[in-house]
Amino acid sequence: MTVELISVGTEILLGNIVNTNAAFLAERIAALGLSCYHQSAVGDNEERLEDAIRLALSRSDLVILSGGLGPTKDDLTKEVTAKVFGKKLVEDAHTKERIQAYFERIHSSKITSNNWKQALIPEGATVVENHNGTAPGLILDGENGKTAILLPGPPNEIKPMFERDIAPFLNRLQPEGIYSKMVKVCSIGESRAETMVADLMDAQTNPTLAPYAKTGEVHFRVTAAAEDEETADALMEPMVKELYERFGDKIYTTEEEVTLEEAIVELLKEKSMTVTTAESCTGGLLAGRIMNAAGASAVYNEGYITYSNDSKEKLLGVSGDTLEKYGAVSAETAAEMARGAANAAGADAALSVTGIAGPDGGSKEKPVGLVYVGCFVKGRVRTEEFLFTGNREKNRDYAVVRALTVLREELICL
Ligand code: ATP
Ligand code: MG
Repeated sequence: MTVELISVGTEILLGNIVNTNAAFLAERIAALGLSCYHQSAVGDNEERLEDAIRLALSRSDLVILSGGLGPTKDDLTKEVTAKVFGKKLVEDAHTKERIQAYFERIHSSKITSNNWKQALIPEGATVVENHNGTAPGLILDGENGKTAILLPGPPNEIKPMFERDIAPFLNRLQPEGIYSKMVKVCSIGESRAETMVADLMDAQTNPTLAPYAKTGEVHFRVTAAAEDEETADALMEPMVKELYERFGDKIYTTEEEVTLEEAIVELLKEKSMTVTTAESCTGGLLAGRIMNAAGASAVYNEGYITYSNDSKEKLLGVSGDTLEKYGAVSAETAAEMARGAANAAGADAALSVTGIAGPDGGSKEKPVGLVYVGCFVKGRVRTEEFLFTGNREKNRDYAVVRALTVLREELICL
């Protein structure tokens, strides 16, 4: 079966927003074993949207549209798709109730009348509930055996809807469903990780193994085709076990949605420990990353952005002698920052980052990309030196992930 993607929205067409929905959908569709040969973006324009849908239906079995399901005038996806499929729009009582309930929960203000537009659905369409917004997803079957799936534009709505309802729907369309597990690895470089599983990738049939390089992490998707989930799990289990044999505790999760920061916050909770951060070149990014994890408040009370030497002395108690003798970007300073932060915050653990993010500020001895991480855990400080080769943004992103990784390594040894 062939699937085609259409991203709807003038802001995508003009480059005002990055089309992350297309990347998400394309990756998930491939992982479900479906073929996608075309994807397109089209503005909020009735005629051109109609043309795009007709073209897609002429060459693919299933078309997935994202965006343009909202209440405003420029949201046309449902109206235009209904027209192409020759369906009338009718009010869906259940959706109307849900919109009412959503507004009662979220807004104290009254519902504007245009919101009721979202309760209209093409006759005969299957409604897919939206647990994070008002516009439901829709599945439309045409007489010619072609199908259109309409999904809302906001990423926090489309992703959970896809995982919960659309992926299982797509699996049911195929004789064999495609099931997958994500094995997420940190503390190892991408090429080294790939080399370590080269033989598994060469030998792969069912399940298959595919690596994805993420900043400072490598994710492996193990995918199996089987008639049901249980059979797929049995097929995937030996491969996951083999990955554990090879990567050991560098694997931080096998859950699709668990992030590195969430895994670390969980570890801290398990050990009833708190953490703090002292950041120079990352300027709060590390703290922000930890706070991405829901429930971070159980392990994090306060942190420090100490960009200048003065603030390193004042807030963290780094000694003036250390700063003078070794410089702000040094293992010695990183160590004192970590220890000082743990002291000041009364935390069980502390991470510090100091480095030269670039583009300026580098020297022969201390080039751009040089970063020191300090990690204080229960009275001991470990420091690590890194030399990143990206631009300012990348260097700061890598520094954050490496710092988190160092903390994780220390925590799992306790
Ligand atoms: P709404 O009810 O919010 O209007 P909608 O289904 O009509 O939702 P759009 O109006 O097309 O969707 O987009 C709403 C927002 O969702 C956009 O402003 C953008 O932030 C985000 N968005 C839409 N399409 C994409 C996309 N392809 N990739 C990433 N983000 C997107
Ligand atoms: Mg909209």
